[in-house]
Amino acid sequence: MVNPAKTFDILVVGGGNAGLCAAISAQRSGASVLIVEAAPKFYRGGNTRHTRNMRCAHDRATEILTGPYTEQEFWDDLLRVTGGQTDEELARFMIRESKDILTWIVEQGVRWQPSLGGTLSLGRTNSFFLGGGRAMLNALYRTAEALGVEVLYDAEVVDLDIEGGAFRSATVKRPEGHVRVRAKTLVAAAGGFEANIDWLKRSWGPIAENFLIRGTPYNRGSVLRMLIDKGVEEVGDPTQCHAVAIDARAPKFDGGIITRLDCVVFGLVVNKNAERFYDEGEDIWPKRYAIWGRLVAAQPDQIAYILFDASSLNLFMPSLYPPIQAPTLGELAGKLGLEAAALERTAATFNDAVRPGTFDDKILDDCRTEGLTPPKSHWARRIEKAPFYAYPVRPGITFTYLGARVNKNARMLMADGRPAANMFAAGEIMAGNVLGRGYAAGIGMTIGSVFGRAAGREAAASARN
Ligand SMILES: Cc1cc2nc3c(=O)[nH]c(=O)nc-3n(C[C@H](O)[C@H](O)[C@H](O)COP(=O)(O)OP(=O)(O)OC[C@H]3O[C@@H](n4cnc5c(N)ncnc54)[C@H](O)[C@@H]3O)c2cc1C
Repeated sequence: MVNPAKTFDILVVGGGNAGLCAAISAQRSGASVLIVEAAPKFYRGGNTRHTRNMRCAHDRATEILTGPYTEQEFWDDLLRVTGGQTDEELARFMIRESKDILTWIVEQGVRWQPSLGGTLSLGRTNSFFLGGGRAMLNALYRTAEALGVEVLYDAEVVDLDIEGGAFRSATVKRPEGHVRVRAKTLVAAAGGFEANIDWLKRSWGPIAENFLIRGTPYNRGSVLRMLIDKGVEEVGDPTQCHAVAIDARAPKFDGGIITRLDCVVFGLVVNKNAERFYDEGEDIWPKRYAIWGRLVAAQPDQIAYILFDASSLNLFMPSLYPPIQAPTLGELAGKLGLEAAALERTAATFNDAVRPGTFDDKILDDCRTEGLTPPKSHWARRIEKAPFYAYPVRPGITFTYLGARVNKNARMLMADGRPAANMFAAGEIMAGNVLGRGYAAGIGMTIGSVFGRAAGREAAASARN
């Protein structure tokens, strides 16, 4: 129970990676900190629970990273994936700070492990959390609580008292009723609005009803909405988000990493009319996996099917659900609810267009189609060896980019151009400052850690004044 008479130095809203990094850094700067987390304790930590790794710059190989990844290379990657839609000052600040985060996060109790194998090949650029995101979170919670940070679960912020860019108090919904929490400064770390289907529908239209949400149902964007409505400047496009193709049989929320499908490059992808719609072998998978959510979203009924044959079955990490299997393509079509003749025609046209080559899934190989629209530029092999398999896929929304505008001290900026008096933001809720569009694996956690640490430090300084 929080003492209603107490005024904390800092109220952190949201207990994921960004909120924890902010709370720890603020408490280490001598501030008193309360975290309010909407979820019950078991579900604390939002999308952070599902993560596996973080992308940080480093000048040389480490015990767990296979080689250097310079600030310049990180910047070049970010520029490429966002098509230049990033705030250069904030992005360069994030990249520079990420070097130090590699050791800072270990000082907070998190442990690294060497890269996991798989199709994304991240061994040089990304550090993996020993035990995954939940172990990482548990370590941060342990450290925060040992330092004296107070945490309230089942505590959803439902209103913010903000006047002229200055935060005064928050109304928090608790099982026993509403309580008012006072603090000298606010750190908003309550995630994006990806779990708010109505908000998604406002931007995407009714098709958003068919999206699956890969992470927590608690990131409904309510805090972001309140901040924007109370004068904080918004940044980013509401339709931009990280979206991948996930198994259509996944639950509506919280299916996590094990529902992602990485076998697009090994097969054909067709829509419900059994038609191909995009080059499955356009580029190596780490550069293309994050476009397939949007591609499937553009198809009728937002459903697609990845087809492959027996020769590819063991080349990738499977989803939690077994592939649908049949001895012939026609029978497979029947199981998928597709028109058999149409699927057989699509496969035959594809097979006829495949040119001989040397298959190698580690490089952009020379196995390609000729005279086919859309082409398959690499890893094109005839689909002919029974049994035949398929995974149904839907758009899996990871997190949204529209957010609160901040400066590089993580201080929010108001729509009238002034900096907020005492309000800071970190993590998904401000990701759009760095990610105008596109994604490179592991940046979500970098944004949360770097801006979380900065927000905590700056909020503590602000509370002292
Ligand atoms: C399946 C999956 C895998 C991923 N893998 C990776 C990865 O390996 N590497 C990577 O960099 N990124 C990954 N991401 C993205 C990453 O999870 C996020 O970028 C990151 O965790 C965001 O941290 P955060 O603290 O901003 O948000 P979260 O960790 O989501 O925390 C936000 C918290 O705010 C709480 N909250 C929301 N509204 C309120 C409210 N009104 N009042 C109080 N509390 C509230 C929520 O309950 C939640 O706990 C993955 C995401 C998913 C879904």
